[in-house]
Amino acid sequence: MSTNHYDVVIVGGGLAGLSAAAYLSSRGKKIALLERGALGGRAVTLKIKGFNFNFGAHAIYGRDTSVLRTFEKELDLHIDWQDFNPNKAKYDLGDDLTAVPANVQGLFRTKVLKGLDKVKFTFEVLKTMLKMETGHPHLSIQKWMERKNVSEDVQEMMLTLASSNFFTREPEKIPSDVFFQYYRRLFTTNKPVAYIGGGWQALIDEFVRVIQQHNGTIMTKTKVEAFRVEDDRVMAAITAEGEITGDEFISCIPPKEMVKAFKDTKLEHAISQYANYDPTYVVVYDVGLKTRIDVPYTYIYDKQNNIFITDISYYDTTCVPEGGQLLQATAYINQSDVGNKESMEQRKAEIEQLYDKHFPGWREELVVPRVSTRAVVQEIKWTMNQKPMPIFLPDYRNLFFAGDWCEGQGQLSELSFSSAYESSKLILEK
Ligand SMILES: Cc1cc2nc3c(=O)[nH]c(=O)nc-3n(C[C@H](O)[C@H](O)[C@H](O)COP(=O)(O)OP(=O)(O)OC[C@H]3O[C@@H](n4cnc5c(N)ncnc54)[C@H](O)[C@@H]3O)c2cc1C
Repeated sequence: MSTNHYDVVIVGGGLAGLSAAAYLSSRGKKIALLERGALGGRAVTLKIKGFNFNFGAHAIYGRDTSVLRTFEKELDLHIDWQDFNPNKAKYDLGDDLTAVPANVQGLFRTKVLKGLDKVKFTFEVLKTMLKMETGHPHLSIQKWMERKNVSEDVQEMMLTLASSNFFTREPEKIPSDVFFQYYRRLFTTNKPVAYIGGGWQALIDEFVRVIQQHNGTIMTKTKVEAFRVEDDRVMAAITAEGEITGDEFISCIPPKEMVKAFKDTKLEHAISQYANYDPTYVVVYDVGLKTRIDVPYTYIYDKQNNIFITDISYYDTTCVPEGGQLLQATAYINQSDVGNKESMEQRKAEIEQLYDKHFPGWREELVVPRVSTRAVVQEIKWTMNQKPMPIFLPDYRNLFFAGDWCEGQGQLSELSFSSAYESSKLILEK
């Protein structure tokens, strides 16, 4: 058999492809990982003037029950967890600051809910934890709350939480079953949010270490132009340098790229619906500051404008030069505003005002700003009309899918990890 033949060919070197490649190689599979650019995909870390800008806050939700934790244990990854301090998280209510009800103490301290509503909200949380409430795939969370006569304040609270966790300005459109599944995990975890010391790059380096230790092959700057499909099997990934054949394939590239690679094959049609779905976009505006501006909070969420700021350098001191500070602001955007220059300028101005309010003097300390007005937080936004992609298609037995556009547990990168883990397990069980 040619040296270009592998047990498993994994296409796409983002978090999904990297974790699948590390896991399968550690279990004795001869793997090849093909990435068109550099490893990491959307989980990039850019080094500018001594600041490490992570695309995204690399916040891992419910780390103790996460699939990333499973990978950590099974692959013996070294992850420097930096747990989020809920006591330093605040909601900005306009003229007042209050605790984020991310845990029970926060719930009792917060001013967002009052008296009886606190009890009612706690009851909803309790029901979710006890699996009494599962929601329904055909009911949006808004419709579900209306049917259950949930009071207005509790409704607002639930939508605010959904907004910040699903990175959306339209939380009411989230399917209720997805909402409850997510919160069951979050309310039963002891580690609601954690960051990774060294950022995404530290995690990427760990996956690469495991792959190399098990003699896996990593090819960067290797774009897969097409897949060769014969009957119900994928035979090869075609690159400019030639064909790479395999027994099994995991496609870890976004559906829009997949449609191009499977063009003129029988799979093109099945994949194309996922390629037409809307992603979740946000505006990200990071600032690297010369000296720290100390304030009593490390996370501030502007409820009115759906913007949050995280003091990344509080959790990851490696991302700044000595004495510096790295703040990251993320603003959710409506689908209709995506690509609208004026709306984006408006969002940027709102972010700057929030920095002015909570980190006075930041403009004088500014060394380097980094702005992206079209960052894809999740490839398929979860709404009533958009469903995530399954991790395999029933007719194609040697092709699997992984990425944050796939079915899986949790949100964001947890979807990439869980789909990568499930796809890999299906291959190992063969
Ligand atoms: C601003 C922002 C904030 C975020 N914050 C968080 C957060 O706090 N917590 C969290 O968990 N997640 C967060 N995320 C989401 C997280 O970054 C993604 O879920 C995750 O990185 C997706 O990984 P993936 O492997 O599924 O996909 P991708 O990263 O998109 O990987 C796909 C890879 O395939 C490659 N590729 C594409 N086409 C081809 C081809 N034809 N041939 C070969 N290679 C190809 C691409 O170059 C890419 O490397 C955030 C994202 C953004 C943008």
